[in-house]
Amino acid sequence: MLVLEVEIIRYPWFKSNGLYGTNAYSSIRMTLGSDIAQTLARVVDRDIRVMHVCGTHEAAIAKYGIRSVLPPQMKIVMGPGCPVCITPQGEIDAAVELAERGCIVCTYGDLLRVPGTRSSLEKVNGDVRIVQGITKAVEIARENPDKEVAFISVGFETTVPTIAATLMMNPPENFSVLVSHRLVPPAMEWLMAQGEASLDGFILPGHVCAVMGYHEYEQFKVPQVVAGFEPEDVLLGLLMLAEQIENGEAKVENAYPRVVTREGNVKAQRLMHEVFTPADVEWRGFPVIPKSGLMLKPEFEQFDAQKKFDLVFEKVTKKAGCICDQVLRGIAEPTDCKLFGKVCTPRVPVGPCMVSHEGACRIWHQYNQRR
Ligand code: SF4
Repeated sequence: MLVLEVEIIRYPWFKSNGLYGTNAYSSIRMTLGSDIAQTLARVVDRDIRVMHVCGTHEAAIAKYGIRSVLPPQMKIVMGPGCPVCITPQGEIDAAVELAERGCIVCTYGDLLRVPGTRSSLEKVNGDVRIVQGITKAVEIARENPDKEVAFISVGFETTVPTIAATLMMNPPENFSVLVSHRLVPPAMEWLMAQGEASLDGFILPGHVCAVMGYHEYEQFKVPQVVAGFEPEDVLLGLLMLAEQIENGEAKVENAYPRVVTREGNVKAQRLMHEVFTPADVEWRGFPVIPKSGLMLKPEFEQFDAQKKFDLVFEKVTKKAGCICDQVLRGIAEPTDCKLFGKVCTPRVPVGPCMVSHEGACRIWHQYNQRR
């Protein structure tokens, strides 16, 4: 029998700081053991295939060996959950071009080694600096008034409010942002419409839902559960998802209520909508998906690096042998790639999925080796 220990702990500090909305903070903890596997085995009586759309979920699943305790009929596949991995090569090339044209390029470390067509931000002959976030990039712009400074802004909805808030605080004129943000729901909609991954349900990304809530996922008539990132959170999410699938239900449930509410962080969403508007953009491994990205509104376009430097995001054909596109669409696993662990390693990555800490190939390489 499943041993389920549920604790509801209220943390006024989280509430008063408005970190995750205004609802009281609660914690649900599941005590794990062989009972969880038995419960899932009882619930799952046919082949089911579920997808998560978050690199942090893949890291938790791989690190804690969660696949090894699932019934054999239940398969978890990865989706387009790594922001660095889904950034198309044309946008990496544009960032490299900025550095070649004399800009100080500020970027998250994960993006540095992603191979572009001719070079990468690590290898380009230019001034490229790793920063923790946009605030440091603005500081660099203030310290270098005679140079142009561009921040390469990748990420899902989670990172957008901070970018928006910074741009509303009048950064210097020599500062701009190369906007490469992506929105999760349109990509999920595309995956469901294609049907190539044969999915029965989704684990929704806890970080994204902390900001955006989960009301916008209710339009999808498919089983979905918001899950957190501790192994107990992931397992609870999978159990709730399996129960929904087996009961023939299709709704959104929240297995991460200590952080996520249906409405999300409304203040953060307001900031995001004041500065950005949806745009049709390409994802690596996907075609252009309508309204799946963001662009700056006209009143902020002086900070748009793409416009400021007249950059064109070229459509680039993928590298021979790399199947990152299929991994990101949930139709292949990293170990299906002939280059995995041989030609392509974290030290010498061929594709972006082997570069980022949220990339499926990198995660599988790290934890398979450890095992
Ligand atoms: S192992 Fe390397 S080459 Fe193969 S899909 Fe992953 S990143 Fe691409």
